[in-house]
Amino acid sequence: MRDLELDAFLVSQPENRRYLSGFTGSAGYLLITPAEALLVTDFRYIEQATVEAPGFAIRKIETKFEALFPSLVAELGLKRIGFESGHMTYAEHEGLAALHQREGLAEPPALEYTLCPTLGVVEGMRAEKAPEEIAAIRAAVELGDAAFLHVQERLRPGMTERQVAWELEVFMRQAGAEAAAFEIIVASGPNGAMPHAKATSREIGSGEPIIMDLGARLGGYHSDLTRTMCLGEPDDRFKEIYALVLRAQMAAQEAGRAGLTGAELDAVARQIIEEAGYGAAFGHGLGHGVGLAVHEEPTVSRTGTSTLADGNVITIEPGIYLPGWGGVRIEDMAVVRPQGLEILTRAPK
Ligand code: ZN
Ligand code: ZN
Repeated sequence: MRDLELDAFLVSQPENRRYLSGFTGSAGYLLITPAEALLVTDFRYIEQATVEAPGFAIRKIETKFEALFPSLVAELGLKRIGFESGHMTYAEHEGLAALHQREGLAEPPALEYTLCPTLGVVEGMRAEKAPEEIAAIRAAVELGDAAFLHVQERLRPGMTERQVAWELEVFMRQAGAEAAAFEIIVASGPNGAMPHAKATSREIGSGEPIIMDLGARLGGYHSDLTRTMCLGEPDDRFKEIYALVLRAQMAAQEAGRAGLTGAELDAVARQIIEEAGYGAAFGHGLGHGVGLAVHEEPTVSRTGTSTLADGNVITIEPGIYLPGWGGVRIEDMAVVRPQGLEILTRAPK
């Protein structure tokens, strides 16, 4: 806040709100100054907020936050209030802007303040995980690994993609997951050519690539795992492409360490795939940070300019997608350390 010359910071992004306060409810704002920490929420969450966020003074929204906001600004004497420009909507911003800005009046009224856009402030803090966060992620990874092993043994030709996705989800929930981390992807045959395909009613056949991308949420933290398999005998094309993706993934896992940029790590895998002639078929980034959100900082792709740091938790997930045939993606999670990557995922490849 001192660097940005702010005298208050308004947090509305749900994971950031949880990260800073401990409050897990789905609605509310943090208003933080050098001296005060307020959690502003409505009737539904007052009791929960009191329990979960003992470091915050709880304030209740009676009607709308925008109706309460000017009185908080006046009470705390705020002039420059940072807000999360990547999250707050245009309508929300309009509602919170000072009255003269809202109504286009020339004369500033007694209560004059400025909403200052900020980007990625708390996201940057979230990127470096504390030991207890890594422990939570590790537990979520173990659930994903176990679900994969469970389904791998039961997979048969004729099962639909949706049946397999459901098997994975049921297993994780019965094993204690709060939820699946995201909508589970099971993409067989040609469907696998779409990196973010949805599970369909297509029956899985033998001899075709099957991509499964799944994860669990536990204690608010996520895991993210992809495996590609084949029922029956894989053809030569499958063997070639699988071996190439695995080689690219292993090379990146060997090379990864704190101090590299995301783009530099991406390049390790990308170069191997490009040299084999499949560069255009690897159209997404190598990986992403995982934590309270499934996709968060740091970015491990061609655009990843920031440096990987000790305690980042990232995925390494190269893929090759060929329209009409299908795809291969292999995804593990790892903790970034100065001496290298500590691989969390245990599911066999
Ligand atoms: Zn994934
Ligand atoms: Zn991923």
